[in-house]
Amino acid sequence: NNIPISIPTLNATFIPIPSLPNQQTRKANATFVMLVREKDLHGARSAVRQVEDRFNRHYQYPYVFLNDEPFTNGFMESMRTMSKSEMIFGLIPKEHWGYPDWISQEKAAEARRTMRKIIYGSSESYRHMCRYQSGFLVQHVAMLQFDYYWRIEPDVQYSCDIEFDPFLYMQDNNKKYGFTISLYEYPETIRSLWNATKEFMATFPHLLAKESALDFISTDGGNTYNYCHFWTNFEIVDARWMRGEAFQQYFQHLDRAGGFFYERWGDAPVHSIAAALLLSLDEIHFFREIGYFHLPFHNCPAEPKLQAKCHCDPALNARDKASRAKYCGNLGALGLVGFASEDEP
Ligand code: GDP
Ligand code: MN
Repeated sequence: NNIPISIPTLNATFIPIPSLPNQQTRKANATFVMLVREKDLHGARSAVRQVEDRFNRHYQYPYVFLNDEPFTNGFMESMRTMSKSEMIFGLIPKEHWGYPDWISQEKAAEARRTMRKIIYGSSESYRHMCRYQSGFLVQHVAMLQFDYYWRIEPDVQYSCDIEFDPFLYMQDNNKKYGFTISLYEYPETIRSLWNATKEFMATFPHLLAKESALDFISTDGGNTYNYCHFWTNFEIVDARWMRGEAFQQYFQHLDRAGGFFYERWGDAPVHSIAAALLLSLDEIHFFREIGYFHLPFHNCPAEPKLQAKCHCDPALNARDKASRAKYCGNLGALGLVGFASEDEP
């Protein structure tokens, strides 16, 4: 029995937050989404609490929680105490979380052995997760009704009041991909991703955007990938674009190439390369005013006017040279600087 499991809202256990005079009426057709395991209950509650306090108590966008195992009533009830917004709990169908028939499981197991020194290199579930977030998440039956999703994760922190509606910003300004942090990917995890991408570009030239953000991901006009990617643990996405032909062709091409299993392709480089090649540059947006933290990187607005609404320390954007060097996208001309510090060299 696949999804979505939905249990009645337990209003009795919800601690109501008084609605503010500026309660919003105009809304986008949008949702938060979190992929989560039950062991991450407390991190998930913490993330939702912050999203609520900083933004969503004024807007009441719904939440979709997805899991490769069925959620228990205890988990769902505990999550529901965090918000009076609708919460949908979905089970991921087996065909989206497992090996497709063209993948050799022996070869995949061998890759996990040879990559064991690399972060998550030996993990099988991490690979299923990355593949799922890359192309299947938007196809979940609980997601199909929504035009936009905002991804959240357990334990992330939202450190600034968000006094506007990022979904409506996307909708009103024709943005299809929004981010807060951009970083360099570990090259060992995506050895053949750019070659597979080049094959895709050669096979489907008509799907590529004309005024693309290619310069964000390549410093030599597309010959090589510079490993720059949007950090997808935060992303606000036009799900219609991601369900559309161009993105899904790209995802299927990559899926056939096998690198989700034979290497350890992450959803971050996949989404980022797709956005850079398939969208116009002006369809991508950096949400500089959204204070955000996912271990170990921050986006903390440094401008005093923005900072006043935050509790983060903007010095943490790039505390030392080593971590500063991991942020990428310092391409002033593109306006796609990966974090909000004003003193970036
Ligand atoms: P990292 O941010 O790359 O270190 O990876 P995370 O461990 O944070 O995983 C990314 C997202 O996928 C988070 O939302 C996790 O809750 C979720 N996730 C990771 N692995 C699994 C899994 O095996 N099952 C489920 N249901 N969610 C997972
Ligand atoms: Mn994470």
